[in-house]
Amino acid sequence: MRTEQDQILWFQFGALLSKAKMPTLENNSIRIKDPQVLFKDGSISEKDLKHYKKLVDSGEQEQAIDEYIEKYVTPYIEEYQTTIQNYISQAESGQLKRQDSHNLEKSVILLTLAFVSLNTKNFESFVSESLSEKIFIDNMIKSASLKKMILDQTLSQFNQLTQNTMLETQSNVLNHIRTLQREMIVENQKISSLDIIGSKLSEEIELFKKSLRKKYPDIYMAMEEGKILKSSIMADGTSRNFKLKNYTEMSVRTTLLNVDRTAVEVDAKVSNDEVVEFYLRDHRTVKDAREICMYLLGDKVNGKSLLALTEEAASTYGIMTIAEARGQGAFGSYCRHSIKRVSNQFMKSLKGEYA
Ligand SMILES: [Zn+2]
Repeated sequence: MRTEQDQILWFQFGALLSKAKMPTLENNSIRIKDPQVLFKDGSISEKDLKHYKKLVDSGEQEQAIDEYIEKYVTPYIEEYQTTIQNYISQAESGQLKRQDSHNLEKSVILLTLAFVSLNTKNFESFVSESLSEKIFIDNMIKSASLKKMILDQTLSQFNQLTQNTMLETQSNVLNHIRTLQREMIVENQKISSLDIIGSKLSEEIELFKKSLRKKYPDIYMAMEEGKILKSSIMADGTSRNFKLKNYTEMSVRTTLLNVDRTAVEVDAKVSNDEVVEFYLRDHRTVKDAREICMYLLGDKVNGKSLLALTEEAASTYGIMTIAEARGQGAFGSYCRHSIKRVSNQFMKSLKGEYA
């Protein structure tokens, strides 16, 4: 009884709302994207892994990372984002049948899972097949267990930045869809009790839509601009909405550019080093030099810019720890600086001076 009533109400409502979209909804045939079709060519190929390795081995790490992201991250996160935007706009177009809204929600969950697993698998392949060997060689890292520690640490950084964000995004989107549908149901009840038709009905619907936009700006930003990612609350108490595509590309790039920093940090820690050297890794010109990086480069101890691995070393030599520098923005996205271990000889003379 309830279902039939809903359908009639939806028909009035939906017909006025968006004529173009109506047939799909009316026929109970919301087009749910199949992740297998959507991400069909998404697995990184052997040929490309070799090509990226060649670039990395010849010193073109940034180029390899750019090409990898352009081919294996961007198109798929774009597909995901567009599909989600479309789902939200379906939910915004009128009251869906129960089964349809259930399918939409299920599809959001499946798509998120599929994207996360594709993105993670490709990331792991790229790091282990194309990127890491050169980093290990450059930093003279030979121990298998040390290599494993570095790869594990890298993957965990990646998970922290991307997977958790995707799951947060997913729950945002599900909330958006449910919220819209709840509003539609209430509005349909209201319209039926008002018993209005024609221009009065269109006016009511127009007012209702306006009120939705006012009440849920986040949902409209997600639907129209692809800002389906909401940041956690910032220091100043506000939160921001991001385009998922931009965030995903940025976080993949940042984690990949961090592999050599992670390698050096883990290696140095395992060797009980006190300090590492901070230096310019990528000589391409920077758009905006970071203040923290400029500061570190200008502050030399025995001719080198240094960062400490422990608090104790930081106070002994009057320098920042790696964590402090990172907290102030060093090694963030687009930072072109890195760290390397210092020689025993350098350490000896440093200790001599600060003894
Ligand atoms: Zn920098």
